[in-house]
Amino acid sequence: MDPNSSLQELTKLSHTYYERQWMYATAGNLSSRAGDVFWITASGKHKGELTDKDFVCVSVEDGSLVSAGVGLKPSAETSIHQVVYSSLPDAGAALHVHTLDSNLLEFGIGKEEGFRDLPLPPIEIIKAFGIWDEKPNLSFPVFYNHTHVPTIAQEIKRYIETKGKPQVPFLLIEGHGPTVWGKSVAEANKHLEAVHFLLQVMARRI
Ligand SMILES: [Zn+2]
Repeated sequence: MDPNSSLQELTKLSHTYYERQWMYATAGNLSSRAGDVFWITASGKHKGELTDKDFVCVSVEDGSLVSAGVGLKPSAETSIHQVVYSSLPDAGAALHVHTLDSNLLEFGIGKEEGFRDLPLPPIEIIKAFGIWDEKPNLSFPVFYNHTHVPTIAQEIKRYIETKGKPQVPFLLIEGHGPTVWGKSVAEANKHLEAVHFLLQVMARRI
């Protein structure tokens, strides 16, 4: 994959998501994989003003920094992207945003519990995930929002190791926001739009 074209796609999405109020100020992070490395938005960059130079390159295997422009450092949430890429070989892009509806949902996941599978409403939009069953019985994982982000990443890793790949291409961190993935930036964006709609429906049903 040509990293430059995917970085341009991610930059465009950053501006779009900022306009949609999914990435206020510096919140959220976007990445795409290029073989053994991935490119992710640098820490502290305003998402409405992001450029394709505001990305750093990180190792898929261990999350170490491979290269970065002067003054750039990886997002604090890089470890979540690293565990997505290292645990899910099909993932070519990962998108993490802080939407209003995802923060309105409360599931009461305990700190010691770490994560829980929750039922997903079997509504039309799940066809965006390639699921065509009528009224499927699906669930999605929700994680506790540890202040120490690598602890969240470890719990995502533990979830996939023990339970396998999630049934749908996303996870939610409670009181924080969703992370979605797809084979490409375009597919991940399609998934994120579907997830946003799903979480809007769930938030309004409370
Ligand atoms: Zn976040």
